[in-house]
Amino acid sequence: MCRHLGYVGPETAVGELLTRGSHSLRTQAWAPREMRGGGTINADGFGVAWWRVAEPAPSSESEGGQVLTAGRGDISGRGGVPDSGIGVGAGLVVSRYRNPDPIWTDPAVEEVLPQLKSGSVLASIRSATVGMPVERAACAPFLGGRWAFSHNGVVPQWRRVVTAVSSDLDTAATQWGATRLFETARLLEAEAATDSAALWVLLGELLDSAGPEGFVESPGAALALLATAVLTHASDARLNFLLGDGEQLWATTVHHALSALVTDDFAILSSEPYDGDPRWQPIPDRSLVTARPGFLSVEPLARADSQAAAP
Ligand code: GLN
Repeated sequence: MCRHLGYVGPETAVGELLTRGSHSLRTQAWAPREMRGGGTINADGFGVAWWRVAEPAPSSESEGGQVLTAGRGDISGRGGVPDSGIGVGAGLVVSRYRNPDPIWTDPAVEEVLPQLKSGSVLASIRSATVGMPVERAACAPFLGGRWAFSHNGVVPQWRRVVTAVSSDLDTAATQWGATRLFETARLLEAEAATDSAALWVLLGELLDSAGPEGFVESPGAALALLATAVLTHASDARLNFLLGDGEQLWATTVHHALSALVTDDFAILSSEPYDGDPRWQPIPDRSLVTARPGFLSVEPLARADSQAAAP
């Protein structure tokens, strides 16, 4: 089932967000409430990404520590450093901590992560789908460029379906004038042999597809297009996506739960409300959500996708 949480707002302690509330993300690891048939507990690891403002680049002669200003949404390694878990883009740097052990066993949650401060956080706890590896590289969030991504759900027969979706997107890419096409071989770049890691390769390609109607400026449309393309090949796929760029959050709901708590000061999307605040809003199934402080948009996924398909 996995559970995930995204936050954008005033600077806060990264670790505190994982333990915030009587039904915190950490509590949801062993006592989730809205399982919807997707598992029992979320004990197969966790991950958290946070953004900070990039430090000014040192002089050009200097070798190390250079801040790259390459393309936004570049997941292919040109704008970030995927292997090290650090991405750079658009003036924000995203970093990540992951552990394949249960979140409740990791003392860093209380001893280290609270020392990190950020105005934007994306976190996930994992319940590995049967047959998928339990390892650090399979724990969301997945990073690339300025983006962090999490998937709560499952794609049945994911190897066949994701390959077919890649082929569909390659055909569709010419319609929106993308400057680069989808190469199915890129799926080999997936960090882990899981549906989620493979979907992240495809989403990264979409976000990186510069062109007259590229998705860099409309990541929500990219999420909707990907979800719809997967559903075409696997109508029983479960596709709760969560994407952040340090300033906004985008999410889809296909089968699994999601709630939003948005005020003028902050925006939070969470699989389950972490406390009893009456302002939490449950998100209907098959929605595309866009959230930032003072702004929440919830629209039907199908409509968002038809807008994406008709540039
Ligand atoms: N299928 C994904 C994985 O195994 C997500 C699992 C989930 O949402 N429970 O990592």
